[in-house]
Amino acid sequence: MKNIFYFGTIMPIIFFFIMFTCRLIAESYDLVILNGLVIDPISEYEKVANIGITGDKIAIITTEKISGKIIIDATDFIVSPGFIDILADNSFSPEKTYLTMEKYKITDGVTTVLFMHGGTDDAKKTYKYFQNVKHLTNYGYSTKVMNVRTRCKTIPDRLKLIQENLDYGNLGISHSIEYQPTPYKEMVEYAKLAAKNNVPLFLHLRYSSKEKELDGVQEAINLAKVSGAMVHIDHIHSTGATYHMQTALKMIKEANQQGYNVNCCVYPYSYWATYISSTRFNHGWQQRYNLNYDDLTILGTGEVLNKNSFYKYRKQYGVIVAVPEGTMSLDELFFPVLKYSWSCIASDGGIEKEKNANNHPRGAACFAKAIYECQRKHMPMKNILAKITYVPASFVPCKQMEQRGKLQTGAIADITIFDPKTIQAKSSVANPNQFSDGIKWVIVNGKIALENKKIVGYYGKLIKRNVQKQNIKK
Ligand SMILES: [Zn+2]
Repeated sequence: MKNIFYFGTIMPIIFFFIMFTCRLIAESYDLVILNGLVIDPISEYEKVANIGITGDKIAIITTEKISGKIIIDATDFIVSPGFIDILADNSFSPEKTYLTMEKYKITDGVTTVLFMHGGTDDAKKTYKYFQNVKHLTNYGYSTKVMNVRTRCKTIPDRLKLIQENLDYGNLGISHSIEYQPTPYKEMVEYAKLAAKNNVPLFLHLRYSSKEKELDGVQEAINLAKVSGAMVHIDHIHSTGATYHMQTALKMIKEANQQGYNVNCCVYPYSYWATYISSTRFNHGWQQRYNLNYDDLTILGTGEVLNKNSFYKYRKQYGVIVAVPEGTMSLDELFFPVLKYSWSCIASDGGIEKEKNANNHPRGAACFAKAIYECQRKHMPMKNILAKITYVPASFVPCKQMEQRGKLQTGAIADITIFDPKTIQAKSSVANPNQFSDGIKWVIVNGKIALENKKIVGYYGKLIKRNVQKQNIKK
């Protein structure tokens, strides 16, 4: 009797328990990425492996078999931390254009866009609006000093307004001194405020001419020295070191060796673009940049300018023109910068409207082009990915960024899966509105947001500083 009871009753229960447990283990992850070449640039882990995601976090990275509710077969693809663009730009009517901008970022593999070149001077209002609308990518803001200076007339008032923005969660302080010349003494105040709050000071330097550009680099270094702040030089190859890159790099290297914190970014394009109404095109621009009217092309239409159309468009607000390809040699101005640990790749761009966007192609293809160009130079993939993942994340120190830019257990699952053989930029001067090739899946906060150029979900979150009193130095 006893044996019959045992085999007849207990065994089926045990059997079902085992099956149930196996099923639980087998499907214990919400999403799994199988058989991809997993590269974590920080730890230098590089193996064909499987990743299990639970909620918004990476639960496991293993060469053992795993399965989950949703399966991505990443065979032959690279599985990277999601790309991080710290110099995203979306300054023209951001409420109307942000989703277009995010669409062209996520199709380029970007999971986090941070507006560290400009940002907002009213964090409370900006956050309130953008937290109530859907997002494809994570997003965050610096404090835009250009706007602060327009709103407040005295330096104490300006510092107070910046502090309020930082207390609300803004990630840094940013200023474009070339576009809004500002006394050095005032810049020192902003640098000291950045140091006090443990946030970076992002600078578009004061000069871009051959004669004076290095003075701008020296100013950035001096600001780091006098304040102790982390100072970031925006797009150093187009502003600050176009004509003297080796000298500029030597200056920054020495400053870092002395213990100061100066870093920079570059974009992988040999031509820059900016507003035709800006101070860059003030009297003498032809001599300064060795360019003529017909060297300028309107982005999005491909119209080449002449003297008449130059002055016509210069009177209009917000028209962006590009200089010719090859104006800034990648061999002289892009690759040499990447040799240093204190450099990263960032777009300084964003696509702001559908069809004929008047934006530089880097807004849609910076990261695909960076990988393509760096592969051509035989840079190891882990080194390429470092420049677009954890290094830029480290230039914006805050808790939320510490959890990103890496593929490790416990990190936030922002992940980009791409084909290294087909990844390539498509966006061009005449037609910037083209998605990059080779980006297969993009996962944002643990969920698939993009699959084969198709948007499948909106999971982006606001990135803001976790303001704690102890972070603020007396
Ligand atoms: Zn700039």
